[in-house]
Amino acid sequence: MIFDVLTLFPDMFDSPLRESILGRAIKQGLLEVRAHNLRHWAEGKHLTTDDTPYGGGDGMVMKPEPIAKAIAELRLQAPTAKVLLMTPQGVPFRQQHARELAREENLIFLCGRYEGFDERVRETLVDAEFSIGDFVLTGGELPAMVMIDAISRNLPGVLGSSSSAESDSFVDGLLEYPQYTRPAVFNGMSVPDVLLSGDHGKIAGWRREQQLLRTLQRRPELLESVSLSELDLKTLDLLRQKIATDG
Ligand code: SAM
Repeated sequence: MIFDVLTLFPDMFDSPLRESILGRAIKQGLLEVRAHNLRHWAEGKHLTTDDTPYGGGDGMVMKPEPIAKAIAELRLQAPTAKVLLMTPQGVPFRQQHARELAREENLIFLCGRYEGFDERVRETLVDAEFSIGDFVLTGGELPAMVMIDAISRNLPGVLGSSSSAESDSFVDGLLEYPQYTRPAVFNGMSVPDVLLSGDHGKIAGWRREQQLLRTLQRRPELLESVSLSELDLKTLDLLRQKIATDG
């Protein structure tokens, strides 16, 4: 999979993409990240990519022409590549988007700076607008990296063992169950007995119950859009009763 990134700060992408799982996947050729400096498509003595806002006001706005030229050039090689604009006004990025976008062969990320983009960029040049949360960052580079990381985890072969992503939070719509490792007792706190039992059926049952409990306690709204079995629904009822009784 190829991720093309249009940015004014391509060097920001070097170090995070050299490390750990993504670094290994890039070395193995499972994915490629190409950060392009938008100034390459700017014109004039100063290679300007931004200008003052019409109507007045603070800050600078990113001009549409360098962006249009850059996208047109990238699309020569990848005509079907989707262009994703990074903006706090976009659709909140979710695990489900990471999974869907991992099916594409080529994605183009558009990273803003200053006050953001000329509105005509949104209107005519992009396929989707994504936000990584209800806060405002100085630029779209970190959001693009966050999305590239989340999408890449869904590409075949990127994670060492494909099953290690299956139980992650949000993959089946719930939060993950609590995890434990050695030692069996830490600061007087023991690992739950069931995890030491060797009974895989019981362990799976306990983990599912913990997923439901965790989601109920921390993100109850997720339960409204997840498909649950009869047993899950019964377990949830019992958990709700227990929470009500225990306070
Ligand atoms: N004036 C813009 C607004 O209020 O919507 C914010 C501009 S922000 C300072 C500069 C750039 O950072 C944006 O164009 C976008 O690319 C990126 N950015 C900032 N926060 C973001 C977020 N939560 N998600 C995605 N991109 C974000």
